[in-house]
Amino acid sequence: MKRPLPDNKSPINDKLRSLPAVDAILREPGVAGMMAQVPRRLLVEMAREALEVIRERISSEPDRYPDRQDIVAEAVELIRQKVVEKGERSLKPVINATGVVLHTNLGRARLSESARYAVMEAAGSYTNLELDLSSGTRGSRYQHVVKLLTMITGAEDGLVVNNNAAAVLVALSTLAKGREVIVSRGQLVEIGGSFRVPEVMQQSGAQLIEVGTTNKTYLRDYEQAVTEHTALLLKVHTSNYRIIGFTHETSIDELVALGERRGLPVMEDLGSGLLLNLQPWGLPEEPLVRDSVSAGADVVVFSGDKLLGGPQAGIIVGRREYIEPMKKNPLLRALRIDKLTLAALEATLREYLDPQQALENIPTLRMLTLPPEELRQRAETIGSHIRQGIEGVDDKLEIAVVPESSPVGGGAMPAREIPTFVVAIRHAAIPAMELAETLRRQNPPVLARVKEERLMLDPRTVSLEEIPRLVAALRRSMDKPN
Ligand SMILES: *Cc1c(COP(=O)(O)O)cnc(C)c1O
Repeated sequence: MKRPLPDNKSPINDKLRSLPAVDAILREPGVAGMMAQVPRRLLVEMAREALEVIRERISSEPDRYPDRQDIVAEAVELIRQKVVEKGERSLKPVINATGVVLHTNLGRARLSESARYAVMEAAGSYTNLELDLSSGTRGSRYQHVVKLLTMITGAEDGLVVNNNAAAVLVALSTLAKGREVIVSRGQLVEIGGSFRVPEVMQQSGAQLIEVGTTNKTYLRDYEQAVTEHTALLLKVHTSNYRIIGFTHETSIDELVALGERRGLPVMEDLGSGLLLNLQPWGLPEEPLVRDSVSAGADVVVFSGDKLLGGPQAGIIVGRREYIEPMKKNPLLRALRIDKLTLAALEATLREYLDPQQALENIPTLRMLTLPPEELRQRAETIGSHIRQGIEGVDDKLEIAVVPESSPVGGGAMPAREIPTFVVAIRHAAIPAMELAETLRRQNPPVLARVKEERLMLDPRTVSLEEIPRLVAALRRSMDKPN
């Protein structure tokens, strides 16, 4: 199509000349009303951009706006959209249909209802964070969780910090700065790129003494490495990998016995921090915090947001003689836990006082222990919602519920995937990879896996309330096959 020439008498130029001024747009009630929330300078900029968009539209489509009022209405609408976009939070909820319960990129553990409520209350109120209400004197922020931690783990004392990496750092710095720490070569773990045992060791000022080999470390390897410079025997749980085959690992019991003989404390970094045995639900064996404590480990550290199912936090439990000096370490001030985390952690730990309640109420535990039959039913429910919600494209869609398996994630239980059922979707016109990408750009974004040219939606990590939004996002993703 040939564009009309821009001579002065063309209707386009008339239209362009009649474009309202920026000031006029700003005086429109729809825009003036936004002045309370959006700085005028920004609105001016948005009005200019909106008018520019309209100018271009008129150039290519002269009859688009029959009269001036249509132009004004369009400008107001464009500004409104820009304000909404600007106001949209960067950190936002996403729907996790990957089935990975502890997805590091999606923020690991989802909090229980009681934890969420506790956070909300602590956020909006003053709290007795560091006030002893009975005496009216200064209290410790740790007082709110220490009793719970000792009850649940059987340890004498406890301390909480920002995350488990911080827990390792503060423990090593307190117990072994300027001295030696003995670790097996098979346990020099790296977690998610940023936490590496040797590097944290270096930051703490302790010197790493590696013993044994990658696959085998015997008690005698530790024993031979003990000198007058030794401060600590450290065992690190290989939480995100397993060494299998021709292997030997020294047990925590053996290390504790050695520690007692040589007068050395023993520390175990458990990583995951499992507080309940999940083997009856078919999950792989994973060391329990309580077992490490009762075996005699002097200090045990673990994460709050892995298998424990709470907020990001590092938890230290153990003997008072070792924990007490950590509370005086100046590093603690830099690594300390904040009140919102503390509120969520206390509420999560409270659930563990009744294990049955913990399994029900803590989403991580609940999702990990969902019976296969329930997963299958949920997959069917999602599948039928999709069939109902996406009428018309039905003939292009192939939807099936199929058995699958998913990793636990978050650097936990690495060697085994857990069985599940997924909704497998194939669209005749849209490749699965493209569908997954479009889903990720929806609001709310939906994260799903792709396998064998099919989009896989795992119901394990999708709550019932999320299903309608998931289906709506899927429908929008299929609307525009580009
Ligand atoms: C995950 C993990 C860490 C780090 O914990 P964060 O809470 O992520 O800081 C440290 N050690 C081990 C063994 C881990 O598995």
